[in-house]
Amino acid sequence: MNEPLAAWRTAPLLLSDCTMTECRDVLAGPTPVAVLGLGSTEPHGPHLPLVTDALLAHESALRAAKELRARGVSAVAAPVVSYGVTRYAAAFAGAVTVSEEALIAYVSSVCEGLRGAGFALVCATNHHLEPEHVRAIDAAIRKANDKVGGVRFANQLSRRWGRTLSDEFKRGACHAGSYESSLVLAARPELVRDDVRRGLPDVDVSLSAAIREGKSEFVAMGLRDAYAGEPAAASVEEGESLYARITAMIVGESLEALGLASDA
Ligand SMILES: [Zn+2]
Repeated sequence: MNEPLAAWRTAPLLLSDCTMTECRDVLAGPTPVAVLGLGSTEPHGPHLPLVTDALLAHESALRAAKELRARGVSAVAAPVVSYGVTRYAAAFAGAVTVSEEALIAYVSSVCEGLRGAGFALVCATNHHLEPEHVRAIDAAIRKANDKVGGVRFANQLSRRWGRTLSDEFKRGACHAGSYESSLVLAARPELVRDDVRRGLPDVDVSLSAAIREGKSEFVAMGLRDAYAGEPAAASVEEGESLYARITAMIVGESLEALGLASDA
């Protein structure tokens, strides 16, 4: 006779899809973890939607929660924070920014709220890479961790995790190029304007180098159409391979924080 599956294993992977009863089951499972995705509402070239960063955050959190469950951890993906500090793309339609101060207060409070709701660990994954935004997220996570503990940030801009991602990402051409286009293609292909994407010329600009030169606006950096890199080279296969690496990053960070062994 097969044992029935424990209740936490059959609850929805998205916290927002759980009823209170299913959420109670998740919280009663082993070391409950909330994976918190952080994104933005921002232009991503003529081929990707404004939700790109939030969508990547949602998909990465979902895949990481699934993988954590496979390793015996009672994980869910928490609702994504979909606004961020977004000034570089201000010249294009659809850039909606919030202040650093507001973001730090809100994200730290969301983390504290998830801990207060009974999660043993909150692991954040951020997919909007503007430096001012990443610094604000880092500050928010530290603030929440100092206050309540049990809050971590799997940051792909850290030396530890960044080197595990794609060459385009490491060159710093990581805005709506092959990296992000592949990740959207693998998760929600219907949201990619694929005829447009296939016709886009490469824009060989390193955002990290441009930022070091003091530029803080996409047009000045040479992104005339709000993208850099090679969107035409994107593929579902690259997207799947990148999700595997992003998932390993979030799972590795979470298991380490929980004091469980990780081979990630
Ligand atoms: Zn993006």
